[in-house]
Amino acid sequence: MKGLLSLMASMEKIVSLCKRRGFLFQSSEIYGGLQGFWDYGPLGVELKRNLKDAWWRDMCSGHNEMVQPAGAPSTFDMVGLDSTIIMHPQIWKCSGHYDMFHDYMVDCRESKKRYRHDQVRGRWVSHQEVKVFVTTMAEADEEQAEIQHRALKYFKLRPKDAEALVYDGPSTTLDTVDEFSQVLGPDAKTLGTLTEPREFNLMFKTTIGALGGEEDYAFLRPETAQGIFVNFKNVLDSSRINVPFGIAQVGKSFRNEITPRNFTFRSREFEQMEIEFFCHPNSSQDWYRYWRDRRLAWYQTLGLAPESLLMREHAAEELAHYSVGTADIEYAFPFLPKGEYGELEGIAHRGDFDLRSHMEGKLDPSTRPMVVELDEFGKPRHRGSGRDLTYRDDITGERFTPHVIEPSAGADRGALAFLCEAYHEDEAPDENGKPQTRVVMKLHPRLAPIKAAVFPLVKKDGMPELAQEIYAELKRDLAVFYDEKSAVGRRYRRQDEAGTPYCITVDTESLTTQTVTIRDRDTLEQTRVKIGELAAELKRRISG
Ligand code: ATP
Repeated sequence: MKGLLSLMASMEKIVSLCKRRGFLFQSSEIYGGLQGFWDYGPLGVELKRNLKDAWWRDMCSGHNEMVQPAGAPSTFDMVGLDSTIIMHPQIWKCSGHYDMFHDYMVDCRESKKRYRHDQVRGRWVSHQEVKVFVTTMAEADEEQAEIQHRALKYFKLRPKDAEALVYDGPSTTLDTVDEFSQVLGPDAKTLGTLTEPREFNLMFKTTIGALGGEEDYAFLRPETAQGIFVNFKNVLDSSRINVPFGIAQVGKSFRNEITPRNFTFRSREFEQMEIEFFCHPNSSQDWYRYWRDRRLAWYQTLGLAPESLLMREHAAEELAHYSVGTADIEYAFPFLPKGEYGELEGIAHRGDFDLRSHMEGKLDPSTRPMVVELDEFGKPRHRGSGRDLTYRDDITGERFTPHVIEPSAGADRGALAFLCEAYHEDEAPDENGKPQTRVVMKLHPRLAPIKAAVFPLVKKDGMPELAQEIYAELKRDLAVFYDEKSAVGRRYRRQDEAGTPYCITVDTESLTTQTVTIRDRDTLEQTRVKIGELAAELKRRISG
């Protein structure tokens, strides 16, 4: 292919392609939309489903418990679970979400808007001895222009006077500013309108049953993990598996995020793919390292570029209250400033915090070793289940509370990263051999919503009939698409935009030799194969 331009697309182009081609729509769009909620269109639903299926197959159903994977401390078992979204409210008290699952937010007294403290960005700007922290919620590529525009307006300067502004340091987040009196809020005209940061619980509250009293409240789960912990004993008793083993779960989670933004990156309803891996305390650090490295490799296998991925180990002060170690797998999303990465997945060593909290009552995270947090009467602040969640090793006879390693991934953030990575613009010749800019989604064949499109070259001479026969045959176990409308070059382009890795064309030669061409989306190479060998050839290419 000549003149490969392969540009890093701006987010705008990706967002517009997602809407135009039916990957993602804003939820409730005809009513003006609902912030923080997204719908997956016909192509998007297949992409996300393929991503979840790949995760489930690679992590859970395809796992061979008799073989020790490279880097794993030993062989292990993997099983699945599907727990409910609404669970007993006590679970969130013992897990710590009820007391501690919060963000800090600031309110603006002038605009009446609410912002997440660590997401408001700004810069110190001075003019004639007056120094102001000018903030904005604009996306990274518009941030500086917006800050300048607001600073000029505040100091009553004209655009041509921009040089009269003196900047002190690069842009930074509001949580680096101690005093708000000199802060110009993102939507304010006067200084000092932002309140001190306040805690905000992110769990959605709901009521169970018709009466709806205080006794009947419940929460939509903010993570799938707790459903696994509270089923630990059920799974153990019903599956005849031994520690070490993992329980995998995929499902919806809900967080009332204060500032949902960056497309689907921070949504209020999203899907998680989580594993809780139970192991002996002595080998837990080795398992932590194993899962951290394995999960990073997984994203690369499915096509995320190694240079766009980052493994970030949390510093001690950043660790969650229960965690002995946490690493985030981060991706260089195009909506972030250059050099910044956004979390795709967290891998946390949770120690025995969860099982013990559900057994004994919520532990006090500030104690070492952790003991149950007590109220003013010396009783557990949040009562545990009282059930025995320890494990007895049949061979050694040892009884212990397993430690937990949790690789917790977001299916929506994953889908978004793969969409961003896939977006390319290059040049390809059109029907007349003239180079044209082409938008192509280079999705891994396992993730691609449509695996192959089947075209008759022209709508006559028996080509549509043969193409339809091939389509019907392939459709039995592959996601394929049939198209006979418009010139074949345009049909190719439409499939390139949808990320379809292979296009199969029935031409004149097909009728006499019982062969078709397969066009490769990325190399544009066309190879001729026998119709009888087509299905096997496609499957080989998709899984390879
Ligand atoms: P963040 O710091 O970005 O809010 P987090 O550290 O709170 O994320 P976890 O609680 O570790 O996230 O959740 C595990 C995974 O779930 C994240 O890595 C992410 O992929 C996904 N996730 C969490 N919150 C959201 C959200 N609001 N929208 C979409 N995905 C999310």
